[in-house]
Amino acid sequence: MRAFAAPPAQGLVASTTPASAQWILHEVLPGELLQQIADRYAVSSQSLERWNKLDGTHPVYRAGQKLRVYTQLGTHTRDKLHYEVRAGDSWARIATRFGVSQRDLQHRWNSCGGALRVGQPLIVWVERETHEREQAARAEELPIVSLPEGAAIAQSVGSPGHGYLQNGMQLPKNDALYTIRNPEHSYASSHAIEALQTGIANFRRETGFARQILIADMSVEEGGRFGPHHSHRSGRDVDIALPQKADPPKNAQPESPARVDWLATWRLIKSFVDTDQVRYVFLSRSCQLALYRAAKDDGASHADLLRIIQYPGHGKAAIVRHAHGHTSHMHVRFRCGPEETACEEI
Ligand SMILES: [Zn+2]
Repeated sequence: MRAFAAPPAQGLVASTTPASAQWILHEVLPGELLQQIADRYAVSSQSLERWNKLDGTHPVYRAGQKLRVYTQLGTHTRDKLHYEVRAGDSWARIATRFGVSQRDLQHRWNSCGGALRVGQPLIVWVERETHEREQAARAEELPIVSLPEGAAIAQSVGSPGHGYLQNGMQLPKNDALYTIRNPEHSYASSHAIEALQTGIANFRRETGFARQILIADMSVEEGGRFGPHHSHRSGRDVDIALPQKADPPKNAQPESPARVDWLATWRLIKSFVDTDQVRYVFLSRSCQLALYRAAKDDGASHADLLRIIQYPGHGKAAIVRHAHGHTSHMHVRFRCGPEETACEEI
């Protein structure tokens, strides 16, 4: 479990977590649901009702009201931001930029449904910590580290299940983007390494996500058999731990889906897909509902949902598809690069 604990990124303010629970006051945001508040502070909604004498079937609370919460997590301050719509904005883009859900932005904080016009004033309730991380990610350079000058291109030969890796390239250290679990298990084709970094850099830049992204198994230096994996042989497969919530529920098991930040997971997958260099993302069927919900919440189009996520059908065409055992990590398979003549896409 400690493997997932991220050191705060450079220049970021680490959120302080009091050692023991204490009473805090939470100011209710417009349209905020009791369950959202409960999740935020890792308490039950029943406790919230009890502490604040709310009637369970018709909880009476309104925006601006202060609710008493007994929590270990400290207050999460949200700042009210006045935002002016710019050219090229959409509800989804603005929501992504500030790390909020599109539903909150569009329907709870700004009671306007349809098209945006340039200059239109909007209210965004931005979580202070998230906003700081987002700004840090923007200020931070997110370099893509390529092959050293003159080095032979690392090529994928054959298929992921039977092939091997020629001139295997080790994933370069790149703290701004990711953490490498085991350098000896982190070889791939040059093409896959570039696409991997591009996807993560775009994701961090667009979302401001500043927590850890842990790269687990890729391939070994020369590719070939790499137990216990069936594939991972030709330098195009990358296992990535699912991004974790900032404040996962205290009682959730180390690899529980309750710890996963599904919105970030969706956006990371979307960034990979947008590179056009991803063949598949393997994820257990049991996780796909949560992913699908996050994507819908994020304003993904029907066409994108159909094209990217296998759930709710059993379509053979979607990019995210079921493979056993992928519950705490996703397995990204990159495409063959243009120079890889012996690479078999499959
Ligand atoms: Zn894998």
